[in-house]
Amino acid sequence: MIKNSLLHPVSELHFDRYLAKDTRAALLFTEKLVWERINRSLEIPKSERTFQNTVRALTESSEEFSALTNTVSHLDSVLGGSWSAADTQATQVASKLYNELGLHKGIYTALLEVREVMKPKSLTTAQNKLLDDLIRDYKRGGVALPPTKKQKLKEINEELSKIATKFGQNYAKATDKCGIMVANRAQLVGLGEETVLTAKNEAKLKKLEGYWVQFSEPNYLAVMSQCTDKTTRRAMYKAAKTIGLKPNIPLCLRALELRREKAILLGYKNYADFALEDRMAKNGKIAGSFLDKLSNLYMPTINKEFKELELFAREYENDPMLRLGMADVDSGLDWFYAEKLRNKLFDIDESVTREYFPISKVIFGMFETLSILYGVSFVKNTKLKRWHEDVEVYEISDEADKHIATVWCDWFARRQKHGGAWMNGFFVADRSSGKVEKPHLGYVVANLTGPTPKKPSLLGIREVETIWHEFGHFMHLALGRTELEEQSMQDIEWDFVEAPSQIFENWVWQPDVLAKITSHYKTDKQIPSVVINKLLAARQFRIASKAGRQFILAKTDILLHTEYPLNKTKDPLQLHRDIKTQAYGITAEKWDLELMSFAHIFAGGYAAGYYSYKWAEAIEADFFEKFKQSGVLNPKLGREYRDKVLARGAEVKAEHLVRDFLGRDSNIDAMLRRDGIKT
Ligand SMILES: [Zn+2]
Repeated sequence: MIKNSLLHPVSELHFDRYLAKDTRAALLFTEKLVWERINRSLEIPKSERTFQNTVRALTESSEEFSALTNTVSHLDSVLGGSWSAADTQATQVASKLYNELGLHKGIYTALLEVREVMKPKSLTTAQNKLLDDLIRDYKRGGVALPPTKKQKLKEINEELSKIATKFGQNYAKATDKCGIMVANRAQLVGLGEETVLTAKNEAKLKKLEGYWVQFSEPNYLAVMSQCTDKTTRRAMYKAAKTIGLKPNIPLCLRALELRREKAILLGYKNYADFALEDRMAKNGKIAGSFLDKLSNLYMPTINKEFKELELFAREYENDPMLRLGMADVDSGLDWFYAEKLRNKLFDIDESVTREYFPISKVIFGMFETLSILYGVSFVKNTKLKRWHEDVEVYEISDEADKHIATVWCDWFARRQKHGGAWMNGFFVADRSSGKVEKPHLGYVVANLTGPTPKKPSLLGIREVETIWHEFGHFMHLALGRTELEEQSMQDIEWDFVEAPSQIFENWVWQPDVLAKITSHYKTDKQIPSVVINKLLAARQFRIASKAGRQFILAKTDILLHTEYPLNKTKDPLQLHRDIKTQAYGITAEKWDLELMSFAHIFAGGYAAGYYSYKWAEAIEADFFEKFKQSGVLNPKLGREYRDKVLARGAEVKAEHLVRDFLGRDSNIDAMLRRDGIKT
């Protein structure tokens, strides 16, 4: 290998050495490797083709290339700086390479030849599945189309990818422009001093008298949940749903048209049927009826919660005629009246509860829980190199004391680090010999409240759930024992992948576990049981309304990707408003352009896939009910779950994992019971 800080065997990581300026040379070198290997395996005559010399050789050809691009993208997310430009470059090269590979007739033919030469009986179940999945993916990519159609598809894909980028840029511009101007301090009552001060300075910068509240996620939530002035809240809501969003309208319409055209070109009825073919839901109709069924069942409780909130708001404002509007309810979070009602009902002071959740205790208790359930143990490694001094590295061993995985944990928010929380793998080890020879490597990243000179990091309950959620994903990787590394959890169906992470959040709320993860950071005392009871009760607060918000987004998404073009009287924006109107029982505003900010489906990869969140949640609720019935810390069941679900990654279809663990197909009943929804 050439001398380059980013080039080394894929099972190693050297965060102390990496230099962003080496990216270009490393990309060129590893891309060349890909083509050399592919060309070599394509030369093999048909009669000599085997799974190993063709399928494996093809999938392994890009090992170094994808390890490199993953590392660069990771370093951009956690460090930014010079890694951002390196990442942009890597993304461009990768998307070009993967497009070429995806439409490569020679590779497709070689795969078909293996299928012909190697009869299913001569391959293992995992090998058969990988081969069939690859052939299917190539077909879905359009490789088998006649040249003119193939060209058309290429143009569609290129235009779609341009639209996604442009949508994102427009939305970023819209966010920059968005905000509200208020004349008096009194109109901002309820907001923190810092927010008000910033608003005053922003107005000054714009050479205006008064206060400019810039739109940002935290500011928006602050105004909508804390500002006592109704007019200010309404103005902010209107701004968020309108300002700067118009330029996205033609883009979204075009994207819907192109997706439909693409699906038809490839032989599907609509885009949802194309997108869901390889997922648990299988097609748009099944995903759509899943959502309809759920939202119908939740509707009576959503209505009840709405009425309760309206009654409370009337009392709070001392106005018996008050009617709630969209600016009071159109959210998956607790806005003003909901926040006040929650405080009245549960009286939880998060600054106090945080003191019982120092991060070290939360993580220690989580490791203990994982040890009980899966027989794993954790040892901190202080020698392995990290990308930042905040990062902690742990080695995970199994019951036989074999080192099965290593995880880099980067918990705290800091400048230049991307927002949110996520997990990913650096390296998935091969387990084809049945033995553990190398550990899987991966990371979890979040933006939690960090320590201060006076206090350790003290977590809010949502932050605690975030850690457990991401570790739920990580354990899915760590416990993977698939025969082929191509079938790790990273390759599992989209509408299943959130089940192992969401389910793990449930443990946080179990009294036995709460005892393990809480102690006051000064006095070491347990959290008082009255506080625990309040936290538990508050967890159920307006649970149906929060689900309702997800139904609105998911239904809009699935309808747009099954029924578009809609009949002339209904444009997509109106469809979205109609779904909203139906869900809340109040008319959505004519100026509501929220759909034009729905980045998940127009700039991300979630087109026709937003239902996945609820789909996976129904499965995890079903799984967790089984744990509740036999004890949430039951080691026997923990190991059964480990072996029947987590260990198998994407080796079999997710529906088989579900059936093997539950002894039947999953259904929505457990989720309904959990949420108190009557059937
Ligand atoms: Zn997740």
